[in-house]
Amino acid sequence: MAYDADNIFAKILRGDAPAFKVYEDDHSLAFMDVMPQADGHTLVIPKYPAENLHDVDPDALGATIRTVQTVAAAVKQAFEAPGIMIAQLNGPAAGQTVFHLHFHILPRFDGVEFRMHARDMEDFDKLEAFAERIRAAL
Ligand code: 5GP
Repeated sequence: MAYDADNIFAKILRGDAPAFKVYEDDHSLAFMDVMPQADGHTLVIPKYPAENLHDVDPDALGATIRTVQTVAAAVKQAFEAPGIMIAQLNGPAAGQTVFHLHFHILPRFDGVEFRMHARDMEDFDKLEAFAERIRAAL
């Protein structure tokens, strides 16, 4: 499947769609997931137009993973999470629903189940407050 430049994350990168941003550099962007599976659920994407792990430039991937490490530490601190899960899905069969490569950063707590994947829209004031907490921990 060819990369679709009109996917929602490409629109966020172009500034054509809004996002609750927590971090940005020349190669990557981190922002809140709007249908989070947990409080603090954050996404990191490369600016490189890759659909998934299989078609990303390795240097762009490296820069993106650096951002995942940085933002994951901030999410862990901001939400006092004992565990952080990183998830990354490739292809519809794996559950991928947005076709611009992204890494999920998910705070985890003993005994707390995830909410359903990409189902319920979060309150925007709450997302902005969460984004601010993460930015303050960076
Ligand atoms: P995937 O299923 O492709 O691994 O994950 C896509 C993620 O993007 C889901 O967790 C979903 O909640 C999130 N998502 C879908 N549309 C939007 C959007 O417009 N903005 C943001 N920030 N996240 C989105």
